[in-house]
Amino acid sequence: MMKWFWRLFERVELLSHSQPRVNSWLLQMKDEKGAKNIYHYFCYCGQEFRLKTHKSMDEVESLKCPFCANDYFKDAVAFADMKSTKIWKQFAWQRSLCEDEHSWNITLKYEIPVVNSQTQEIDFRDEKLLNIQLQKDGLQAFKVAHHSKIHFKYSLYMNDKSMLLKELLTEDAQKHLYEYLLLHRTQNIEWIDEGRIVLLSLSQKLKYISYFLKNSHLKEHEFFYWKMDAILADSSEYKTQEEMLAFVSNHRKEKSIKKRLYKGYEEAMKHKAYHPYSDYVFARVIDNTDLLAQLYDIYPAIKEHLFTDNTFTVAREFLLFLKEHYAEKQIVRFFCIDIQNETEYKNRLLLWRDTLQLLRTRGMFAALHEHFTKQKLTVQMLHDEVSRVSHLLSYEYAQKEEFEYEDIYLNTSQQYRGFEFKLPQTVQELSLWAKDLRNCMLGYAKRVHEQTSVIYGVFKEGTLLYAIELRGVKIVQSLGKYNAKIDEDDMQIIREWRDSNFTIK
Ligand SMILES: [Zn+2]
Repeated sequence: MMKWFWRLFERVELLSHSQPRVNSWLLQMKDEKGAKNIYHYFCYCGQEFRLKTHKSMDEVESLKCPFCANDYFKDAVAFADMKSTKIWKQFAWQRSLCEDEHSWNITLKYEIPVVNSQTQEIDFRDEKLLNIQLQKDGLQAFKVAHHSKIHFKYSLYMNDKSMLLKELLTEDAQKHLYEYLLLHRTQNIEWIDEGRIVLLSLSQKLKYISYFLKNSHLKEHEFFYWKMDAILADSSEYKTQEEMLAFVSNHRKEKSIKKRLYKGYEEAMKHKAYHPYSDYVFARVIDNTDLLAQLYDIYPAIKEHLFTDNTFTVAREFLLFLKEHYAEKQIVRFFCIDIQNETEYKNRLLLWRDTLQLLRTRGMFAALHEHFTKQKLTVQMLHDEVSRVSHLLSYEYAQKEEFEYEDIYLNTSQQYRGFEFKLPQTVQELSLWAKDLRNCMLGYAKRVHEQTSVIYGVFKEGTLLYAIELRGVKIVQSLGKYNAKIDEDDMQIIREWRDSNFTIK
């Protein structure tokens, strides 16, 4: 058999035999004179052989490995090129898993032969495909770092269909990372029963793990189906579902209330997930037991959409405000009948949520106290009234000259490494800066008034060089003259100034 093979391909040179590889490669080179092609084959069985010929790549492609009969060799040059989208018949990779104090890590990689341009010898080079990380505190869950364009360009032809490499790699990495971390658990997730999540999709399983890593005080399966990120941080002393429900219901002790709360909870869990914001807000606003019970009975799918992470606190304040004008009974009617309308509930929920968004503007409650006129309590009427007050408020801001700032901004250090950071005191000052920098900063006056943004002017030796916009403590915009980008060294100093003045969460 072997003899037959060598007779057939007389110019095939048999090279050394090494360890099996995960992929078979074909690397095309020129001989010393540059006349002939050298085709160097690396078979996954470990066999290496090469062929010197005038033939082109197409003509030699069907060469078989003399030992294992494999005839699929990927062209290493074309593979490394990554310029075009391609479907490969076979491609395999290797994994490495590791963990340190802070995270679990998986890296997928492959090795590919390349010609060393100095020595003209062939080296195998490791190429990273993908790295996925899970922080042990759950804060950064499954951060994906793509290392290779291969993800987006290449597919694999498997089981009669082509699969995007990106999907295959991500799934493979997630699956192995998940299995690894279950075997190497931290204390926080030791209690997790794999049997209860076996039916979840892979990405759900990973979310599940991260959720409990992040909320390490919660150790019951059902919490995964509680949708209330914004409350969780404030409720870390409550560890069981029962305690959490007591917290959500404002520790109301009346038996009838508890019963309805649990019933509503069970309904919600049957429905999909429990969204506690409604129960949380209502329990803090409505005193009458029977009326509160009616609110607990609102259909879960509607309750879910009444309040969000961003609106539940203003909602609570707003309902307390409404109680100054309306009886509790009217407020309960508003939710149970006006919003929970069989045919109109979708539109009414949208209007209600829009109303809450308007209330998030700074100064809205003061404006309501001043301008609100009592309406018939319907979603439409309430929305229109809040919207009217909101317009009045923007008008007042448009007239207002002086900016007000929260203490955290007033207390920032002005001098930092040769720069001076100043807050504009008036609209007039901001408009002069905008003129100096030739940008549209003046348009931000409303946002500064509303305190959704804070602008700092960055000076050097008395000259305004840049302006930066902060939202919370995050720099969301940083601009030089004519909106030009800030010099990277200066930007570094600006970031350091920010870090030294604000704690970043
Ligand atoms: Zn072989």
